[in-house]
Amino acid sequence: MKTACEACGLIIDIEDDSEGYTLVCPRCSNVVKGRSSMLHSLVFSLSAVFLMFPAMLYPFLKIRINDSMLTATLFESVAALNSEGYVPAGIAVFLTAFLIPLLYLLLISYVSLEAVSGLRLPFSEPLAHFIHKLHRWHMVDVFLVGILVSVVKLVDMADVSFGIGFYLLSAICFFLITAEIYYDSKVFWRRYD
Ligand SMILES: [Zn+2]
Repeated sequence: MKTACEACGLIIDIEDDSEGYTLVCPRCSNVVKGRSSMLHSLVFSLSAVFLMFPAMLYPFLKIRINDSMLTATLFESVAALNSEGYVPAGIAVFLTAFLIPLLYLLLISYVSLEAVSGLRLPFSEPLAHFIHKLHRWHMVDVFLVGILVSVVKLVDMADVSFGIGFYLLSAICFFLITAEIYYDSKVFWRRYD
């Protein structure tokens, strides 16, 4: 059986096709992953899914002006954008910072689970295709940078601090990127050869 190095494209022969292998590319030293990488992908994507709901419910920013404390959660931000008339912006934030990342993580978990367990789960083939379409549309990292920019802008005007939601979002971002690094669609598709 053969596989391709993701970094340099070199075609490498695999003697053991049990998919539990880990190879080092002889040309560029990139680690070519096997089924074990899908287990990592499953663990990190599920961890991010579990953090998603508390991250949306706890405030990511706390702003103290005079004696009153304002807090902002993601859902409150979306509602505020909608009520101010910025409905497309509200919808874009809701989709790219919550709904699409959640769907993307659930799909990665589902396809990784199939690759790890060896089961044939329903609709896994079209869902594995769909992962690649979604992958450019999750923007938790962009949202996180947006929060940092607003803190920098507000810090001279008010007493601004990060809330629990910010730290949870940071953890989600880390888990999501790590799940993406370990997710190896070749391991999934090889089973359908
Ligand atoms: Zn290589």
